[in-house]
Amino acid sequence: MSEIRNIASVISGQYESDGGWGKYAPFEVLVNIMLSQSTHWRNVDAAMERFVRKFRGIDDVARADLAEIEKAIRPAGFYRVRAARISRLARSLQKNHGGRLEGITELPYAEAKKELTSLEGIGPKTADVFLMAVRGERVLPVDVHIFRIMKRLGVAKGGDGYESLRAKLEKEIPPGERARVHLALIEFGRQICKSQNPRCEECPIRKHCREGDKTDRG
Ligand code: SF4
Repeated sequence: MSEIRNIASVISGQYESDGGWGKYAPFEVLVNIMLSQSTHWRNVDAAMERFVRKFRGIDDVARADLAEIEKAIRPAGFYRVRAARISRLARSLQKNHGGRLEGITELPYAEAKKELTSLEGIGPKTADVFLMAVRGERVLPVDVHIFRIMKRLGVAKGGDGYESLRAKLEKEIPPGERARVHLALIEFGRQICKSQNPRCEECPIRKHCREGDKTDRG
């Protein structure tokens, strides 16, 4: 078994998450992913609860005043910039896609990703997480936690960007396990391999990690 596969197997055996997307419609999943960037999940959940209570789909958001969107998502932070982005996204989906995401989610992966990344505020990671969440696309999106962990483990090298690290991980992790590994790595990053003060003494993959060795040496 390769080192990456070994690490993924240990982490996915010990950390679990379902992503929490099951309760949301596709547009809400997209908003949820957009709000999750650099934001604690508790604040995202609080913002999503208000957003879902307030708005009934893409058309409703497209029609709304910016102030209403800002008020709904305020707990997530950066609410002015984010509300403007969500508003422009809803308007663009209304204008160019009939207010529906299904026209995009039913496309083959490469085309769906191309369409998504042409929309306001949606980059490759958001597109991949979205497709994984709403239709079980067998990708392994690399978020900020996964990037940090892989860098510490020496898997991500200096020249690696989003797509090259994703390809590296997907080469080792079988398609059916990617979503689980993605979510488990994020959970591991939140609980143990945190950006500040990682808890290396409790880390189940410490023997694979050069950063963990450094903490030993003080
Ligand atoms: S040993 Fe520390 S730095 Fe390395 S993966 Fe574990 S928690 Fe992260």
